[in-house]
Amino acid sequence: MKNKINGIHHITVLASDPQKNYDFYTGILGLRLVKKTVNFDAPDVYHFYYGNETGEPGTILTFFPFPDARKGKKGTGETTAVALSIPQNSLDYWMSYFAEKAVDFNGPQKKFGRPYISLLDPDGLIIELVPDETADKLEGWSNGEIDKKHSIRKFFGATFNLQKIIPTENLLNEIMGIEYDKTDGSYKRYIIGSAENKARIDIIEFSSGQKSISGAGSVHHIAWRAENETEQMMWKTKITEAGLLPTQIIDRQYFRSIYFREPGGILFEIATDDPGFLIDEDLANLGNELKLPTQYESKRKQIEMSLMPLKTKFN
Ligand code: ZN
Repeated sequence: MKNKINGIHHITVLASDPQKNYDFYTGILGLRLVKKTVNFDAPDVYHFYYGNETGEPGTILTFFPFPDARKGKKGTGETTAVALSIPQNSLDYWMSYFAEKAVDFNGPQKKFGRPYISLLDPDGLIIELVPDETADKLEGWSNGEIDKKHSIRKFFGATFNLQKIIPTENLLNEIMGIEYDKTDGSYKRYIIGSAENKARIDIIEFSSGQKSISGAGSVHHIAWRAENETEQMMWKTKITEAGLLPTQIIDRQYFRSIYFREPGGILFEIATDDPGFLIDEDLANLGNELKLPTQYESKRKQIEMSLMPLKTKFN
């Protein structure tokens, strides 16, 4: 039985306009829409899953686009940036590509000695693109416009902004087996998983910082990987023993989930690798149809009418 979390499974973000969200993530960043479904707790809202070709854990960025959502306010107690891995020699490609598409970006800057560029999604989420040697070993997906050689491969990591970092550091390190790596200025870096599963959590402390207000552009939660339900149960026990309050196991159709709030205020999830996104669509057709869990299938007409029609180009 593993006693270390083996990587990031997915990151889920709140958004506003579904079309702008789709156009940005598939059209500008070139991710694949691997599943188009609804928020299982609010089925009149889409749930978009973007990822690599097969939607593997570690590549999945998901969104709940509430069309009229107000923008979130950045602050403490949240994940403030999502970093994505690109191949080692792809930074110049992306900078020229963004320049050509008139997409604003910042950088290149450096963090932990590594160059990266950053940009904002349509709702203000900070996205960083970071050259990463492990990305070179992974197969890329092309939306037909972005060169497959340079496409985004997976999560590089994420940044947590916290009022007090020690309780969160203790949870990551002592309970979840996520190891401290190094410090760069105000950032402390923790490493999760190894080889192609490797991801980083950079933590920054703002002791007098304002608490974030959740809204469009805010990360809703970050999900960590468990191989299967047996491993997930082990984590549930460990987390309960640490004094936190994980939920029951919830069936999310493409994985099983437990959720709990870490001491700094960020919502954590532990999600299973199985069964994955190929459970109800084949590889060629991933993301093409609106998929509903069985409990909503009888209300399909009503649900489809309540969702904004989506013009898709790349799926
Ligand atoms: Zn989730």
